[in-house]
Amino acid sequence: MDIHEYQAKEILSNFGVGIPQGALAYSPEQAAYRAREMGGDRWVVKAQVHAGGRGKAGGVKLCSSDSEIQTVTEGMLGQKIVTHQTGPEGKGIYRVYVEAAVPITREIYVGFVLDRARQRVMIVASSEGGMEIEDISAQQPESIVRATVEPAVGLQEFQCREIAFALGIKPGMVQQMVRTLLGCYRAFRDLDATMVEVNPLVITGDDRILALDAKMTFDNNALFRHPQVSELRDKSQEDPRESRAADRGLSYVGLNGNIGCIVNGAGLAMATMDTIKLAGGEPANFLDIGGGATPERVAKAFRLVMSDKNVQAILVNIFAGINRCDWVAEGVVRALREEPVDVPVVVRLAGTNVKEGQKILAQSGLPLIRATTLMEAAERAVMAWRSDTNRNPNLKVV
Ligand code: ADP
Ligand code: MG
Repeated sequence: MDIHEYQAKEILSNFGVGIPQGALAYSPEQAAYRAREMGGDRWVVKAQVHAGGRGKAGGVKLCSSDSEIQTVTEGMLGQKIVTHQTGPEGKGIYRVYVEAAVPITREIYVGFVLDRARQRVMIVASSEGGMEIEDISAQQPESIVRATVEPAVGLQEFQCREIAFALGIKPGMVQQMVRTLLGCYRAFRDLDATMVEVNPLVITGDDRILALDAKMTFDNNALFRHPQVSELRDKSQEDPRESRAADRGLSYVGLNGNIGCIVNGAGLAMATMDTIKLAGGEPANFLDIGGGATPERVAKAFRLVMSDKNVQAILVNIFAGINRCDWVAEGVVRALREEPVDVPVVVRLAGTNVKEGQKILAQSGLPLIRATTLMEAAERAVMAWRSDTNRNPNLKVV
């Protein structure tokens, strides 16, 4: 789960990381009021969306008067912002963060990520932070500093000092840098984050180290033990198909193809998507209905897949180990009886109780296309989608 910049800053601040003064606003009047409350004479209005790259896309604007803040905020709220991280559909802006403008002398990049291969938290830092970080990491890879955290002892002060020296932090500020890095690490560890990114971390004219931007992502599987973090969820920033699935306990990722997939197990779901592509089609989604797929869950999965208007054929691929094919078959039949779909459905069952499952499908009288192997299933789904598309001239062939 992602959170907004202002939320990440509040969390980091509670862990001892310095942040500029700032306040949230939902309307132009409120933005100006909050700036006045804060004092000062220059502020930055920042669109709050779950994506970086706002600066280059007009989502971060420097203002020096009340009326300017109002005009800028009015121009942002209710609009969609498209950055290199949002995808072409963009993200809606429903709140802005008004922050004191900070006199910047240096912009540094600091990221805490999970190195899955090494099973460690890794710190990535660069003395050249700011909006051009992608270019810098490609052109000057030597400017990137890395450190790995040993989980048994956690991030050590000496490691933070080494990073500070490598970034060229002047001696009098090293201790401040150590505090900042330890704060980010503790927030990452204590709240089960999978990513903490501060870009830029700035050094100000008056020798303060401040997080000027902050991004945090959390491990969804650990959210249950951090209610204060789950509370920060903002559904307006999520793909509606994915949030509906998450609310129903299904793992779903929406894609751009036309063949809807209903599969049990993440590995099998990936293999199914690959096979669909191999057979010449494009998957509309990744959907893992999980281990104990009851008829109710299968029915929910059908509803979810069908809510995507691009879906023109469905492939159900179940390899039953813990699962039972007869249950899944019952689920498919029940779902299609309750809410018939107007696209071809291909079902491939294998594993526990496969014979019983096939029998249920055969006796249902529903126009299901059956397949034995995965390749056969994918080919039939692509074939069914193609011929269905030919029958219906309104549907587009990709
Ligand atoms: P994004 O990463 O989405 O582009 P940032 O919050 O990093 O957004 O802002 C982009 C740039 O705007 C920063 O690199 C910094 O130069 C400038 N900036 C952001 N906040 C402030 C601030 N409070 N004071 C001065 N400059 C700022
Ligand atoms: Mg940034």
